[in-house]
Amino acid sequence: MSQDLNVRSAWQKVVDPGSLHAPIGNGEQVDVTIIGAGVMGLSTGLELARQSKSVRIIEASDVGTGASGLNGGQVIPGLKYDPDWLLQHFGQERGEIAIAFAQSTADAVFDLIEREGLEVPRVRNGWIQAAHTESALAAAQRRDAQWRARGADVRMLDAHEIEAMTGARGYLGGWLDKRAGIIDPLSFVTQLALAARRAGVQIAERTKAQALRRDQAGWSVETSTGHTIRSRFVVVATNAYSDGLIPGLARSIVPLHSFQIATERLPGRLQDAILPGRQAVSDSRRILVYYRKSPDGRLVLGGRGRMAEPKSESDWKHLERAMRRLYPSLDGIAIERRWFGRVAMTPDHLPHIHEPQPGLMTVVGCQGRGVGMMTALGQKFAHYIASGDRAILPLPISAIKPIPLHEFRQIGVAATIAWYRLLDALEK
Ligand SMILES: Cc1cc2nc3c(=O)[nH]c(=O)nc-3n(C[C@H](O)[C@H](O)[C@H](O)COP(=O)(O)OP(=O)(O)OC[C@H]3O[C@@H](n4cnc5c(N)ncnc54)[C@H](O)[C@@H]3O)c2cc1C
Repeated sequence: MSQDLNVRSAWQKVVDPGSLHAPIGNGEQVDVTIIGAGVMGLSTGLELARQSKSVRIIEASDVGTGASGLNGGQVIPGLKYDPDWLLQHFGQERGEIAIAFAQSTADAVFDLIEREGLEVPRVRNGWIQAAHTESALAAAQRRDAQWRARGADVRMLDAHEIEAMTGARGYLGGWLDKRAGIIDPLSFVTQLALAARRAGVQIAERTKAQALRRDQAGWSVETSTGHTIRSRFVVVATNAYSDGLIPGLARSIVPLHSFQIATERLPGRLQDAILPGRQAVSDSRRILVYYRKSPDGRLVLGGRGRMAEPKSESDWKHLERAMRRLYPSLDGIAIERRWFGRVAMTPDHLPHIHEPQPGLMTVVGCQGRGVGMMTALGQKFAHYIASGDRAILPLPISAIKPIPLHEFRQIGVAATIAWYRLLDALEK
């Protein structure tokens, strides 16, 4: 990345936690070692501490520097799939468990914020899936019927309603999921770290896990600081930032970059016209864009970015074009923030839970829904570790399957993205 590129997100820590670093002791021994202090690692750690387990979390960088501090802050319930698909794919019993989990993930975030008294700017006014074609509208109607049959607070929006709610041009209608909301993700992850620390979790920042070893007594984690931490369980919560710690794991996902931009603070007339109810929005294009307003009144919009790290501001230009296509009234409004982070995609678009050896757990792949999913899944991991009851996990444990020809897969994805962009442009 170019040195003079000013990469800075729109998010803020409401309270600066100061250093979260608790030094590792010589010969430290705990019940559970967690690698990665994003939402997954911290939610698992907090819940384990509540189950009276001693927990050490190590984070290669600082809390909030992974996807959890960089994301769009859209708290959307569910998996990528609708209830009928989940039933068909997993069968009746496991399908119902997956659906119940999907229902619960946004609640997990908002309930946690309330329960722990976290200072996180938030609005829970729903998520709009905006349709720009008849086929996208028909898909939204099917989704609506399935979730309404299960009592979810969701409904269809017609073209007038969606225009009034978003202020954006070009949608035929859409779907409103009232279970969803928005948060400031950087506040959330730092406040979650503080809550975990209050509960007794020890967090070591700037401490990379370099090797994992198992013997009869359990696991040893060797760190970049020269320490060895011993524990009965290890949770690898590195997701899209996974490296070679668990053989094959990094090659079982396709890590993509999601880029975001934020305008300057919008003037009053635009505050009223653009997302007055502060819903989150994702559109229905193949290469979708997602957007929302920040707590300080900027319009924040994100979407796929180049596979390599950005080199210049022009790498965010496609997002500026998308923003101005939706909102011509933003002409003359400056883009003040540009940033990006890594998202882990799996070939089947489901999160993959793995337990490659007894006592070693991991999950990868949340396809851009990880704020709710990882918060909820962390709690499930904690209960599984505490009880040993596999039925607690909402999705089956699977074997790690490296993607064949992984290095070429990235090239394939880049080509697919370019092709989808072209199709999207033709549908305008
Ligand atoms: C730009 C962007 C926008 C997104 N928007 C949304 C959204 O609006 N809504 C939504 O639900 N989801 C969204 N997502 C996805 C969501 O952010 C992630 O799914 C979620 O944050 C993953 O959390 P995590 O804790 O699993 O991983 P992360 O938050 O990425 O944490 C992994 C951590 O592991 C650390 N690590 C890696 N290797 C090691 C090691 N060897 N030793 C120690 N530490 C290590 C990393 O430094 C990192 O901090 C978005 C993602 C991005 C990048």
